[in-house]
Amino acid sequence: MEPVIRVNGLVKRYGSFEAVKGISFEVYKQEIFGLLGPNGAGKTTTLEIIETLREKSAGSVHVAGHDIDRDADSIKRIIGVQLQAAGYYPSLTLTELIGLFAGLYNMQVDAEALLKSVGLEEKRKSRFKELSGGQKQRFSIATTLIHKPSIIFLDEPTTGLDPQARRNLWDLIRKVRDEGTTVVITTHYMDEAEQLCDRVAIMDSGKIISIDSPEKLIDKLVASGFERPREVRKASLEDVFLNLTGHAWTEE
Ligand code: ATP
Repeated sequence: MEPVIRVNGLVKRYGSFEAVKGISFEVYKQEIFGLLGPNGAGKTTTLEIIETLREKSAGSVHVAGHDIDRDADSIKRIIGVQLQAAGYYPSLTLTELIGLFAGLYNMQVDAEALLKSVGLEEKRKSRFKELSGGQKQRFSIATTLIHKPSIIFLDEPTTGLDPQARRNLWDLIRKVRDEGTTVVITTHYMDEAEQLCDRVAIMDSGKIISIDSPEKLIDKLVASGFERPREVRKASLEDVFLNLTGHAWTEE
């Protein structure tokens, strides 16, 4: 498999505190790669260094063959980064916001088709502030796709969403991958990483302690003799809720 991101011996210090402690990993083309770990593990720091938004202290980063030290501009052109919600003009409609972004990128964009691709065609005349949490996240994913990047970065995209909105967002992220984009996400939800990510790097205190597909990580643990203390239920309360309310694509 072809690596599109290569991180080698990456270190980030804030003063005397080492937040990222010499991590190395590769992200392959067209996979959903997750940085999984608790608050403070160093996920956002790592992501923002790769996005060229933060300076690293040591190590090397290559994105699509471009060295971040020499060619950050080329990297910026081929990646899509999710903005925090505060970055949107609240009183513009979704179509107007997409037009604005397209102008910034100097691109012609079919706003209607783009909104349709994230399940927001009916909201095209709504303002950003009128959207639900899940719709806001879907819209912000749409904005990362405007300039047709080969890699997008999503920092905790489902935090604060209800179960149905999370599942809708997972479907959207899978669709984006299936259409050819590499997706790098951070999450502290184990179930999200297990269901969504093709591979995960488990981070803790600035280090990567394991990296593989969720299935292989689980298989390795089971092969080591691990057993759950009690029988696993065949469904969860979340499944009950989703089953009662249905799996609609648009949440209101
Ligand atoms: P979260 O899930 O809470 O976002 P994270 O895994 O993304 O956590 P980071 O935001 O990368 O973690 O932070 C890693 C560590 O670096 C934390 O201990 C944090 O307090 C520290 N840190 C992050 N940014 C700065 C900064 N600008 N100055 C000083 N320390 C920082």
